Amino acid sequence: MLDSNFFRYTGTTLCCDDVKLEELAANFGTPLFVTSRRSVIESYKAFECAFEALPHFTCYSVKANYNLSVIRTLAELGCGCDVNSAGELYRALQSGVSPDKIIFAGVGKREDEIVYALQSGVLMLKAESLSELRAIDRIAGELGLTASVAIRINPNVTAETHPYITTGDSKEKFGIDEAELSTVFSLLSRLPNIKLVGLDMHIGSQIFDPEYYVAATVKLLAIFKASRELGFAIEFLDIGGGFPVTYDPLKPATPIEHFAEKLVPMLLPLDVKVIFEPGRYLVANASVLLTRILYKKSNHTGKQFFVVDAGMTELIRPALYQSHHEVQSVTFHEEEVIADVVGPICESSDFFARHRAIGAAEEGELLAVMSAGAYAAVMSSNYNGRLRPAEVLVNGSEVKLVRKRETLEQLVQNELT
Ligand SMILES: *Cc1c(COP(=O)(O)O)cnc(C)c1O
Repeated sequence: MLDSNFFRYTGTTLCCDDVKLEELAANFGTPLFVTSRRSVIESYKAFECAFEALPHFTCYSVKANYNLSVIRTLAELGCGCDVNSAGELYRALQSGVSPDKIIFAGVGKREDEIVYALQSGVLMLKAESLSELRAIDRIAGELGLTASVAIRINPNVTAETHPYITTGDSKEKFGIDEAELSTVFSLLSRLPNIKLVGLDMHIGSQIFDPEYYVAATVKLLAIFKASRELGFAIEFLDIGGGFPVTYDPLKPATPIEHFAEKLVPMLLPLDVKVIFEPGRYLVANASVLLTRILYKKSNHTGKQFFVVDAGMTELIRPALYQSHHEVQSVTFHEEEVIADVVGPICESSDFFARHRAIGAAEEGELLAVMSAGAYAAVMSSNYNGRLRPAEVLVNGSEVKLVRKRETLEQLVQNELT
């Protein structure tokens, strides 16, 4: 069982803050994402506290959970946003985030996205190729603007994590290769509509060992030094995100303080503002996916299945990254059974847990799939004609519906017959 201040049993019933998950399921139906606002706030504060000694600016990577209320919760605390597309920029602006607190990333920005970002007045665009730099320069010129740009470096550090979430390796598409940097700097000195304001990296996600950050930061600092010698006035060094969280109590995440202990002394002596882009760290353990057991069945090998009403369409992480999620019965059961928790989708990869000890719940009871705050609702899809679930935000004893469940009409609304 995950140790959480925000999802705990009160007596025999699992609660989010002061609210019974049972009540939420009765009022809003299942599958349902339930997010603790206090948990988001607490994670942000813990992050800020760890890096307190360092002049820095935290930009929440909104792709982790882009619900407007989640973005707004963080923005109200002073947090900025890292966005990856026009859609995410729109969401950040709709949440009331000031454009000068938004940084725009993306390995393949379209022209209309560059126009939108420049016209919105974002703090900077993070460029990932020579061609993109030329495009930004041309578009800024056409708009009569100067574009503030950071370049994303590929530090060629292979962080040990799932291969689908390592991004700072030369095998991957992300960032500008070290070997191209001298070309980049000479090009930049010839592009009149670009102001180079930052250097940026992001080496992956769910990175447990601070040494990967150290190795990448060493490279970033060498480039920083070289760029200053070339006369570029770099104001921002962006270390990216990737800070880990605990999904499995048997594999606890490295505390954020351990990352700060290594990074703060390296970055503090520099006359520069440091940017961090945590996504998962701020939201992963703030939500659960609440689902109802439709059927129980077993087969001749004695294997037991809990067939639930949520599936990979709501939480694709086990299928996509082989991720572990704790699954808890909402009503506490002393007795446990070993079972697979599977969804209704027509794919073998549609499961939340395999061969797991779960409270011996009956058909009709609720299960909570834990740590469903990051890369969960945002990756939900309509595959199999599924309706995207509702989302609620809990704050103490207050409950707010922050996303309505999709309807059958919405499923077909964009189709022309
Ligand atoms: C995804 C992403 C992040 C956030 O990663 P987490 O592992 O969720 O912290 C930060 N920066 C960039 C550029 C990203 O693509």
